[in-house]
Amino acid sequence: MHTTRETPIEISKKEFKKVGYQLIDKIAEFLETVSEGPVTAGKTPKQLQELLGTSKLPEDGTSTEALMAKTTELLLNHSLFNGHPKFLGYITSSPAPIGVLADLLAASVNPNVGAQILSPIATEIEKQTVKWLAEFIGVSSDYSGLLVSGGNMANFTGFLAGRNAKAPKNIKEDGLFGSDKLRIYCSKTTHTWVEKAAILFGLGSKSIQWISTNGKNKMDNNVLAKSIEKDMMAGFKPIMVIGTAGDVSTGVVDNLDGIAEICKKHKLWFHIDGAYGAPAAVIPSLKHHFKGMQEADSIALDPHKWLYSPLEAGCTLVKNPQHLVDTFSSHPEYYNFSKNSDEVQTTNFYEYGLQNSRGFRALKVWLALQQVGRSGYEKMIQQDIHLSELFFELAEKHPELEAVSQNLSITTLRYLP
Ligand SMILES: *Cc1c(COP(=O)(O)O)cnc(C)c1O
Repeated sequence: MHTTRETPIEISKKEFKKVGYQLIDKIAEFLETVSEGPVTAGKTPKQLQELLGTSKLPEDGTSTEALMAKTTELLLNHSLFNGHPKFLGYITSSPAPIGVLADLLAASVNPNVGAQILSPIATEIEKQTVKWLAEFIGVSSDYSGLLVSGGNMANFTGFLAGRNAKAPKNIKEDGLFGSDKLRIYCSKTTHTWVEKAAILFGLGSKSIQWISTNGKNKMDNNVLAKSIEKDMMAGFKPIMVIGTAGDVSTGVVDNLDGIAEICKKHKLWFHIDGAYGAPAAVIPSLKHHFKGMQEADSIALDPHKWLYSPLEAGCTLVKNPQHLVDTFSSHPEYYNFSKNSDEVQTTNFYEYGLQNSRGFRALKVWLALQQVGRSGYEKMIQQDIHLSELFFELAEKHPELEAVSQNLSITTLRYLP
């Protein structure tokens, strides 16, 4: 006899369609008209708490339709819209509309992209997304990796792979206790993730050697080379250099080629933080800035910035993906996923990064890359850069402004009343 279990979480097909269509109508209207209102209503946390009220955890359920209608209004009226054309505060981009639909679809299927057996097609789509992102920024198709939640996690993942590859070989068994001689190198302009990484992953903040910048705000590679040599003489163990491809405050790209050479000479891990700037490598006239990127052992980029993906989407690319497996894979007995044979090569992403169960972040990136195409992205990124250049020119002409710098899509200026 066929029986169905009735559960309070169920929504009938009829109701799902009704509420779903209402939601889609609201979202379509919102996307069309977001620019007409303010960037944010700017309510205080206290005002917002009053809106939500102080009722206790609901004992009984509420109608889906009423809940969704109320919540849609709440979000559409009391958010800060980073998709608003006047949102200039941070690098978080407007969400690609196809990414909005992608997240709905991904949540509906709900594949667990930690293991291929649990996410047959999603795993293949993520692998293709990673390949396309490598192609996008112009590095070899040997690079592989995975999608993560954002730039910090993408950098952490590369950092951990580098730490595992270059720290003493017994690090997995003995940990880092006593390895207080490890050193990593980056410019003073490096994003704050690096301090978090040094602290969280056991090296300590003193392991970071902050290298000064030259007149162009790039890491001074002469100082870098000298600093590494001096540390080696003093008994330290340099393991990694971090270059930035698009500094988040000025858009400057380090001399990556020069860093690559130094890393090669001393057998150091070369990590590039391209969270913001790496997608600009798609612009032919900017390619020369990114020379040396193809030498990196690991690269972090952030599709939720310059590829306009909705949050969250970061990506780590590693030149030799075996380093990710060496770092992150472990095999408890109840993990019975790896059934690699000659015919069946499976990819289990839990072995490539920090997460175990993983959502299907790749879908929104994969879809946007196809909807827009390389040429479409080239056009949008070029336009962003043109706007920044125009901003710089206008600031130069303005009597009360001093235009200071312009790189990639970032213009800096000073107000001189
Ligand atoms: C934004 C950014 C990060 C951090 O990325 P999140 O996605 O915010 O975690 C790291 N490095 C650079 C250069 C960035 O621009």
